[in-house]
Amino acid sequence: MQAEQPIQQTCTHCLLSSADTEVISFNNDGVCSYCTGYEQTIRAFNKHADAPEVRLNRMVSDMKAKGQGQRYDCILGLSGGTDSTYLAWWAHQQGLRPLVVHMDNGWNSELAVKNIENICTRLGWDLHTHVIDWEEFRELQLAYLRAGVIDIEVLTDHAIYAVIYRLARKYNIKYTLNGFNYATEAIMPKGWTYNKRDYENIRDIYKKYGSGKKLKTYPHLGFSGALWYHLFLKIENVNVLNYLPYNKEEAKKIITAELGWRDYGGKHFESVFTKFYQIYILPGKFGVDKRKCHLSNLICSGQITREQALEELKMPLYDEAELRDEKQFVLKKFGLSETEFDAIMNGPVRKHEAFKTDKVLWQRYFKFIGLLNGCLKAIGLRRKS
Ligand SMILES: [Zn+2]
Repeated sequence: MQAEQPIQQTCTHCLLSSADTEVISFNNDGVCSYCTGYEQTIRAFNKHADAPEVRLNRMVSDMKAKGQGQRYDCILGLSGGTDSTYLAWWAHQQGLRPLVVHMDNGWNSELAVKNIENICTRLGWDLHTHVIDWEEFRELQLAYLRAGVIDIEVLTDHAIYAVIYRLARKYNIKYTLNGFNYATEAIMPKGWTYNKRDYENIRDIYKKYGSGKKLKTYPHLGFSGALWYHLFLKIENVNVLNYLPYNKEEAKKIITAELGWRDYGGKHFESVFTKFYQIYILPGKFGVDKRKCHLSNLICSGQITREQALEELKMPLYDEAELRDEKQFVLKKFGLSETEFDAIMNGPVRKHEAFKTDKVLWQRYFKFIGLLNGCLKAIGLRRKS
């Protein structure tokens, strides 16, 4: 007797369905929990005595005040993608003096390198490029591929986070500017990505699936180190684009006209690996098409209609010939044969949670901070936001 297949339900508002994630529910109108969660997040963000622009202006004034007498007043992480480039343009408009940080993990597309250099030259800013040790990074990425965990990008994101904090400390910078935004990134199905801070997880995956060589140069920040930064250096991370009426297409037009930026043809395609990961590894091994959440975000933020999103989703993920070239390039750079790579693609999928994690420590820390802030507000020692 055949097992009964569960009925698949698709959201009536966005593109997500119960086949995309185990953690999804639907209300009586058939709207999914990610759409309702999106609304709640935006409402909570706007539930403030002052308008977002006023709050952002206050932060800019504070950045400038704290940066007086210093070489920089903030740090800006620049990938060369739309969001971070628009952020750079905004920072320039505000008269900020950022230290621009870029991570070269060996996978930058030529166009990304050109875009980044061009932006810094035009704006007259210092660019700090951290070139990661390729051999070590390759070992780490291969360990993740062999382990069968989904979020291989954790390795780059964690390293950027560690480098930015180290530089903030070195130059006594109190603000980091971030291109994360609700408008295009708030919706992310549970299980599609993993916590970027969790160095314990990285260490354990590498220990079990890596080459056995000790990591010597990989930039990292463990729980105790990160706690020290949080508690004593009090570096504030500002998701600037959340405070602005951010529209992706408008942003592209502005940075193209003002900064000579050139488009890559896809979200996060500034990196050769990220592109291959999104068009081939994620769909092929994990059944994940990231366009679904990018497009669902755009629907929720009112930038496109559901019909337009569905049309876009019908487009093929890649051009066959282009993919063949990309695959050849990626495999050669990793030093993997076609057979080895196919074995990885067909191998088992493992959850990040199957490895050691410092998730519980972070949960306890944030719970403690939440309680502490509540108490301070109650006795009037902290301003109610
Ligand atoms: Zn939805």
